[in-house]
Amino acid sequence: MKPSIQNPPGDVLCAGAVDIGGTKIACGVVTATGEVLAEAAFPTAPERGVERQLKTVVEYLEELQTRLGVQLSGIGVGCTGPVDSRGVVGQVPFLPGWEGFALTEYLTARLGAPVFLENDADAALLAEARFGAGRSCPSFILVTLGTGIGGGILRDGLLYRGVGGVHPEIGHMIIHADGRVCSCGGRGCWETYCGGQGLADWVQEAYPQPAPLGAAQIFARARQGRRPYVDVVRRFCAAMGAALANLITLFAPQRIALTGGLLQSRDVFWSAVQQETQARCHLVPAHTTELVLGQLGVSAGLVGAASVFFMQQERSL
Ligand SMILES: [Zn+2]
Repeated sequence: MKPSIQNPPGDVLCAGAVDIGGTKIACGVVTATGEVLAEAAFPTAPERGVERQLKTVVEYLEELQTRLGVQLSGIGVGCTGPVDSRGVVGQVPFLPGWEGFALTEYLTARLGAPVFLENDADAALLAEARFGAGRSCPSFILVTLGTGIGGGILRDGLLYRGVGGVHPEIGHMIIHADGRVCSCGGRGCWETYCGGQGLADWVQEAYPQPAPLGAAQIFARARQGRRPYVDVVRRFCAAMGAALANLITLFAPQRIALTGGLLQSRDVFWSAVQQETQARCHLVPAHTTELVLGQLGVSAGLVGAASVFFMQQERSL
């Protein structure tokens, strides 16, 4: 991808940002005010080997830094899948050969600046918390509604982690005890009904088509009032309501924001999802929690990665 560059504003603190996803690796320079000054991306190709891919990251960041004439204070990395606090990549199905690689150590040695790594959903949470829908909100949950469902939890202003630093897998909360089989090995996970892939698979099983429909096509047919897709979306909204009511009942957060590709079709489901959520909240009333949309859109990945560094930098002050 051709790099896009903006003029750097004066002496603003800048971080390098690396967003590692299943289809592309994006690199950028982001200011402490959340502005993406420059970005470039290249395809994720794990068969080329982790070191060759990260060498390209180093080259891109050095090039962007030179073009902008800025010095990076540090680098934040958001990577899909499990990561650990030592900056090591966990087992990610579409990053074969990356497992166990000391990513932050490698990049720190080559870029001469501190590097921090987080799960990409946690990085997106930090971005929305700092610059978007979660501002001034110490108790905040972000749900990413894309091919799968992910998210992160902010409690008392800090990223929530389980024992041993485990990242909570929001998309795999079980909403039907004997439900559909999920890619995680479980059954009835939220993602198998409301993730883009899960929704498409669910519809294909129930209403087989010669060419399986994607989530956007399913929503488009429901928008036209076509059956059985209106009913599919009704069940989608009920499943969304169940999962969101679970989050409200368990955590009673001040705000939950939803983001991700499926929200492009939100005109078909957003108000019904809000109603379904309200109807399922009882002991912790629905009005406890504001249900809102994320604000950062496509820039969330890079701003999130940079936020990983900014968070660590503030902690060390
Ligand atoms: Zn699952």
